[in-house]
Amino acid sequence: MKRVIAIDGPSGAGKSTISKLLAKKLGFQFLDTGALYRAIALHLRRQGTAPGSPDPEIAGKLEGVFIQFSDGRVMLNGEDVSEAIRTTEAGHYASVFSAKKAVRDFLFQIQRDAALHHDIVAEGRDMTTVVFPDAWRKFYLDASEEGRAKRRFLQLREKGTEISLGEALRDVKDRDTRDSRRDIAPLRRAEDAIYIDSTNLSLDEVIGVIVSHL
Ligand code: C5P
Repeated sequence: MKRVIAIDGPSGAGKSTISKLLAKKLGFQFLDTGALYRAIALHLRRQGTAPGSPDPEIAGKLEGVFIQFSDGRVMLNGEDVSEAIRTTEAGHYASVFSAKKAVRDFLFQIQRDAALHHDIVAEGRDMTTVVFPDAWRKFYLDASEEGRAKRRFLQLREKGTEISLGEALRDVKDRDTRDSRRDIAPLRRAEDAIYIDSTNLSLDEVIGVIVSHL
């Protein structure tokens, strides 16, 4: 296992952007685990799987599914789904299906394997607690609810999605509630994770804080 910088936090805290920049700066690879959950949810939706389906049925639907990252694109069974997984609907279903044991079990080893041959920056909801409890460095990246909603709102608008600030706030709140109250691997701050509140910090400042702890 190589070095892992594990970063967890709620939706819209800036984890992806910061992890990507940090990985580039350090020469590490970037593991976007939210993209994995989004791609799996997209696959299950396409298969007509209901969120309430039992775990064995979901596990069966995941047999043979493969996800790859290629030049920053996300490939699901060879198809580029980079755009399809970024809608608010895809985020919603990622959050719904990520509470299923079959989904988490399926993605566990894929995430662990990412650190076998490369130093990585891994971001998600359970990097510091479940997937890489032994990570080299751990961070919990937070921001105020309004700040996170605004970030999500701007991100989606930039991609051409019609969304109001109120809807973005509802999306962020709904997902946080679901992600932190689920039974398996809920979002929580690991005791040994360094807490960073990015509400009033620029990207460079957040990266500066992280680098100062490495
Ligand atoms: O980070 P992102 O918004 O892309 O994640 C989408 C959803 O995937 C989250 O709301 C969460 O439910 C789920 N997820 C998870 N564990 C991770 C990463 C994402 O449960 N490590």
